[in-house]
Amino acid sequence: MAEKAIVFIDGGWLYRCRTALFSKLGAENFEIDYSKLPHLLCEDVANALDEDVSLVRTMYFGTIPSVRSGFNTAKQSAFYDFLAQSCNYDTSIHEVDIGGGEEGRSGTSGGFSWVDVSLATNLVYFAALPGVMDVAIVVGDSPDIEPAIRRVRHLGKRVQLVSVHSDATSTLLDLRPHDFAPIYLDDHAAEMRLVRETIKRICKQCGREEETTWAGTDFFCRRCRGRHRSS
Ligand SMILES: [Zn+2]
Repeated sequence: MAEKAIVFIDGGWLYRCRTALFSKLGAENFEIDYSKLPHLLCEDVANALDEDVSLVRTMYFGTIPSVRSGFNTAKQSAFYDFLAQSCNYDTSIHEVDIGGGEEGRSGTSGGFSWVDVSLATNLVYFAALPGVMDVAIVVGDSPDIEPAIRRVRHLGKRVQLVSVHSDATSTLLDLRPHDFAPIYLDDHAAEMRLVRETIKRICKQCGREEETTWAGTDFFCRRCRGRHRSS
């Protein structure tokens, strides 16, 4: 029987480490294939175990500025919706008051501790449920979740850490709470880059066929989109 894996993602950390992926490929920017990422990680674990690994779910923890903070969060909300609806992520998003003392990991500012505590709580919860998870794949580097990881291993579950090569001090990796060699996302930069396929699609409005890279549910051709915009 396949080993059951749950992927736990520190969303803020994943966002910050994109730059390591870009520089690995000598690019300034590119889109990350978020649908592919959990499967890519499961494949690596399967190779390490020499056993099949099935992805049970992907838990994603992120923050968003509260209404009080006065930021336009439309883009960020759309991104979280995309992760939940198109990539099948199980998202937990926490509203934070931004402004003053956002820097640094200490304290409760910026939502760092909320992400750590939520991620740690879910790790232990799924580890304690019978028959749900054999392997926890943790994407992030906060040393604060190490006690939770220790408990997960006490419960007989294996832990795969996912990080990037960096010069940062006191990372989670330094505490060595893992069962496999770490996966470094920058080593997978090329595979994580989203390649958009060009396909022919039928316009929902006028029925004309056009080549597009748009993968969303409804497709409208260039002309109909233009008409919509000018109306
Ligand atoms: Zn059309």
